[in-house]
Amino acid sequence: LFEALNFLARKDELTQLFNRRYFNERFNDEFLRNKRYGSFFSCIMCDLDHFKEVNDTYGHLQGDIVLRTFGNIIREGIRRIDIAARYGGEEFILLLPETTAEDAHQVAERIRINIGKEKFSFPGPVTASFGITCSRNGQIETRLDMIRQADIALYCAKRFGRNRTILYNESMAVTEEAPPPLTD
Ligand code: GH3
Ligand code: MG
Ligand code: MG
Repeated sequence: LFEALNFLARKDELTQLFNRRYFNERFNDEFLRNKRYGSFFSCIMCDLDHFKEVNDTYGHLQGDIVLRTFGNIIREGIRRIDIAARYGGEEFILLLPETTAEDAHQVAERIRINIGKEKFSFPGPVTASFGITCSRNGQIETRLDMIRQADIALYCAKRFGRNRTILYNESMAVTEEAPPPLTD
């Protein structure tokens, strides 16, 4: 029973991805591990495009179906050691240990293409935008910096027209006025 409850406490009910609380725990562990042992560690933030319109036009039940479907597509697109969580309403975060920015980009693109191909009972397509950052040899200072960078890249993907994947780079930090990062 304890095991079962523990399992439930980690999951987001709708998408069956991890919830934010469990994500934070694991992020802490993986971040420290990357700082200690180096190598690559990627983070992908993604957000459904114009999702409010789906809810407003076709209803929340349809919106929920989209969220559940997106959760499945994310799960199918990652490896067992990756961690995928629902970060906010229609915002998701993926941690990819031992993964370069190029490989993380491929993962994001696979998910992006798959959600775009999915058929729903309303005229589609449903699309999503992705922001990526990668810490090499533990060079990103804090967890919050990592989230902030992925969020800035995601914000750029939205600004450049949505339905795309953008990799963070240093010049974005000064040129883009990004929204404040989500906190606990
Ligand atoms: P953008 O492309 O800029 O991301 O636009 P957007 O409409 O996706 O963004 P916005 O943040 O304005 O809207 C997010 C919407 O997500 C608002 C809310 O109705 C919906 N949402 C959040 N959580 C849930 C949920 O659990 N179920 C459903 N059906 N909708 C949700
Ligand atoms: Mg959105
Ligand atoms: Mg959002």
